[in-house]
Amino acid sequence: MSKVLVVGAGGVSTVVIRKMLMLPEIFTEIMIASRTKSKCDAIAEATGSKNIKTAKLDADNVAETVAIIKSFQPDLLVNVALPYQDLAIMDACLETNVSYLDTANYEPIDEAKFEYSWQWAYMEKFKEKGLTAILGCGFDPGVTQVFTSYAAKHHFDEIHYLDIVDCNGGDHGKAFATNFNPEINIREITQKAKYFENGQWIETEPQEIHKSLKYPNIGERESYLLYHEELESLVKNFPTIKRARFWMTFGQEYLTHLRVIKNIGMDSIKPIEFNGCKIVPLQFLKEVLPNPQDLGENYTGETSIGCRISGIKDGIEKTYYIYNNCSHEDAYKETGTQAVSYTTGVPAMIGAMLFLQGKWNKPGVFNVEEFNPDPFMAELNKHGLAWHELHDIDLEL
Ligand code: NDP
Repeated sequence: MSKVLVVGAGGVSTVVIRKMLMLPEIFTEIMIASRTKSKCDAIAEATGSKNIKTAKLDADNVAETVAIIKSFQPDLLVNVALPYQDLAIMDACLETNVSYLDTANYEPIDEAKFEYSWQWAYMEKFKEKGLTAILGCGFDPGVTQVFTSYAAKHHFDEIHYLDIVDCNGGDHGKAFATNFNPEINIREITQKAKYFENGQWIETEPQEIHKSLKYPNIGERESYLLYHEELESLVKNFPTIKRARFWMTFGQEYLTHLRVIKNIGMDSIKPIEFNGCKIVPLQFLKEVLPNPQDLGENYTGETSIGCRISGIKDGIEKTYYIYNNCSHEDAYKETGTQAVSYTTGVPAMIGAMLFLQGKWNKPGVFNVEEFNPDPFMAELNKHGLAWHELHDIDLEL
């Protein structure tokens, strides 16, 4: 018997719920709570399940979250709302003695800056209460760190070079759309890029460094270096790493639109006065862009996300590439969403399952690479995200 409260009712939440319903012996009772209750109801209704409760919740308000937790009494809260809510939800979990899982690290709404310091600061409080907080349990962050810890455990004595490579080789047929929340996505991509080398963070202009990389079953794609949150925890937890970078593919059409959005100031997060009310240009833009949840129907192609690693095993230099490819069409057939929501929601469900089974359960605040990777890797294969390994190959990096 276990009860799970899922906060947020977007694309990722849709997948989390669908996948939890496939394991009724683990997830016996589910509640979806989010800002717009009709969206929770729509997710619940589309599943045909009578076993889902829904509620309206503004998760920025700690007292509201506390009240919902007290009435539903979950064993775990799965936060798939936005990064802005992370700390308020963690506070509510501490107040009510409930463990916590999310898929993106905290980011203040008025500053496009994400880092783990705010959430790591909760370590002692969660430890004292015997509660677990699992941070960043999506694909990237999430699976990419589990891939790295699996490589460290089974294939390397020391990891020296890590390149996380994220390719969306899909086509949604729109001139411009983002695959997850447009506000969060555009904030991430317009920031300065950064990578780790020899103990230092090196900053570059957005999209300044790029190269063509070959992705399995997709082919060559221009890949751009950007900063991604899991680099921060990986270099801390694997101190032998000399260089860690993150690469993501973008099409020319996407980059042209992004440049125009920046040039005309639509990426601004500073509130402006418009017709007597205050609006944030980027939040307004989000409202007129396609909803990532609606992209699935005509989406073709696949994503390919993995880790290209080199280092030492038994005194010999070794290279290794571990990756998953996920088809947009298959994700849509199974859950009604595209592969980006799917590849985030499946790992969140698996993290929740491992917590409830006592396999990923220890007091404190942890990134996913701090848990045993083996049970997680086994579940990925069973729940739609099969992974593949290549040994001693040219990593192109
Ligand atoms: P969506 O925008 O589709 O969904 C977000 C949901 O959160 C919406 O239902 C929204 O409500 C709700 N929400 C927003 N503010 C509040 C609030 N104050 N209180 C309660 N609910 C709120 O986003 P996605 O589903 O695409 O993404 C969900 C999360 O997953 C994000 O944090 C994103 O960064 C993360 N992510 C992680 C990835 C990974 O690999 N680790 C990859 C992709 C996404 P409303 O419907 O009213 O707007």
